[in-house]
Amino acid sequence: MQGDYGLFQCSLPCHNKTYDNEKQILDMLEKQKDMKIPTELIPKCPICGRNMEMNLRADERFVQDEEWYHHARLYNEYVEKTNKKNRVLIEIGVGYNTPSIIKFPFEHLTLFNEKTYLIRINKEYTNCPSEIREKTILFDEDFEIILKQLNV
Ligand SMILES: [Zn+2]
Repeated sequence: MQGDYGLFQCSLPCHNKTYDNEKQILDMLEKQKDMKIPTELIPKCPICGRNMEMNLRADERFVQDEEWYHHARLYNEYVEKTNKKNRVLIEIGVGYNTPSIIKFPFEHLTLFNEKTYLIRINKEYTNCPSEIREKTILFDEDFEIILKQLNV
């Protein structure tokens, strides 16, 4: 919902499409020197020639293409199908940049679904509304430490 480091989009954007960037990123890694890449590897938009950037929801220029809507539909179907079942939502490192995308919907699902619980892992924002406090487990440790303790 918040984007994908594995995708590029036009920085304007002049069109509503994202591009897989794995090959370009690996090429940059291979050819970087002193933390710089050769100028010709700077990704350019195939339509307008402007620089490309990561597909991340940083501002109003975020591209939501067909693939994004496909994944949004899958997510909504999952939420619908599991509404009356036991469900644990795990929120990792979600701040207040765009809380209406993940943070507030997770709190809403936890509040209005009897069998939904929330695990919130966040070093900076370890809190939740009092209405869902009994259904929420809060972690303020680094996620990497928690992951190691889970032995996953
Ligand atoms: Zn463009």
